[in-house]
Amino acid sequence: MLYLIFPGIYLFTWLGYLMHESWHRYVPTVNNKFFYNAFALMILSDPQVYFIVHSTHHVYIHTNQDAEFHPIGEIKSHVLRVIYNWLEVLFGVAFLVGLASITLPHDVRFAKKYRFWKFPISVGVWVVYIGGIGYLSHLVFGVTLSQTLLAYALTYWLGSFLLHQSQLIEHGNLIIDGPIQQRNFGTRNLKPAGLAEKIFLFLTHNDSREHILHHTMTTIHSRPFPGKFTLQKNAVMITLWDYLKILSRMLLGKVDHQIIR
Ligand SMILES: [Zn+2]
Repeated sequence: MLYLIFPGIYLFTWLGYLMHESWHRYVPTVNNKFFYNAFALMILSDPQVYFIVHSTHHVYIHTNQDAEFHPIGEIKSHVLRVIYNWLEVLFGVAFLVGLASITLPHDVRFAKKYRFWKFPISVGVWVVYIGGIGYLSHLVFGVTLSQTLLAYALTYWLGSFLLHQSQLIEHGNLIIDGPIQQRNFGTRNLKPAGLAEKIFLFLTHNDSREHILHHTMTTIHSRPFPGKFTLQKNAVMITLWDYLKILSRMLLGKVDHQIIR
């Protein structure tokens, strides 16, 4: 089972990463629309959801208007925020995208862009895709239905969990009142300080290593080339240990709120 789960998680975080790179059209010579849709469908999402919300992540970074990170906006009740944060940490990006799929069609900002007919098509593609691979595994390797379901559930859950840990390192639990330049500078970056950080960065394709550059120079494809661009002097660099402290505040429902004027 481990032999199956590890490449599955590595592939999941890679698909998420590549979907994001296609969204930004970082490789102009390929058919980004096709790749974006293909990668999004392979991680069992409705492609239009992330397509709509990712622009809000860049414009409204570190605010409750960021519909990718805060699909239901600010949660005022402390108890609800604690429950919500636990679910978000446990289920990862699947939890946020799932919520965004429910809130998007009713959000006045996006209602015009959202198409109801696209959702059942996505579900059809997921069924053919995972059903097809599952059936082929049965034919070729003699895998049983319960083994297939368990492998899928573990791969997608752990993939979703790990991908979101990387995103939480970058932006988790942080709300900043201030102009966009200041809010961009709140982006955290994971230092490849020790073995744990190096393994984490390997599994998540260096997503969080110099993530601030993705927000301060969005049009430049910096992430596959760590060390090539000079990091800002005041960039926030953290270790996994620092992240655990942020995570514990998040799980206690204590938002890190900064006001910069
Ligand atoms: Zn982006």
